[in-house]
Amino acid sequence: MERPYDGHTNCLFCRWIRAGKAVETLDTVAAFDDGFPVTAGHLLIVPLRHTADWLFMTRREISDSETLIRALVEKIRLRDPSVTGFNIGTNIGASAGQTVFHAHIHLIPRRDGDTASPEGGVRGVVDGKRGYHPS
Ligand code: 5GP
Ligand code: ZN
Repeated sequence: MERPYDGHTNCLFCRWIRAGKAVETLDTVAAFDDGFPVTAGHLLIVPLRHTADWLFMTRREISDSETLIRALVEKIRLRDPSVTGFNIGTNIGASAGQTVFHAHIHLIPRRDGDTASPEGGVRGVVDGKRGYHPS
């Protein structure tokens, strides 16, 4: 008899899924609190199926992620009016900073003044490159 799918034993997010740690689920995806949040409310949107990164996610998983992210954004805005922006992003590969090799999308709430000069946002993935000064 085929064993039921139980995810990858050594994968942090598969363990979270099995332990029922999701704060929200939507069909093929779930949201979890990030253990080391960049800002208060930092969430990770994760496919229930183990797969290495965003490029391996199915169209269905990507579509469910978008729906879940939009619902979470509404919920966060209602609950916390200090949230005035978001960073949404994914790291693909160790070179790009990925540390957990189960696909996930970061949803990072932002608030006015949470950093001195927010200009450039996700450009900050390379130290010193976030801000820019067109001539
Ligand atoms: P990545 O660096 O792969 O894009 O994101 C992995 C995320 O998982 C990070 O934002 C990090 O805070 C979170 N994370 C990594 N290891 C642990 C852990 O052991 N416990 C918890 N709660 N979160 C973790
Ligand atoms: Zn996994």
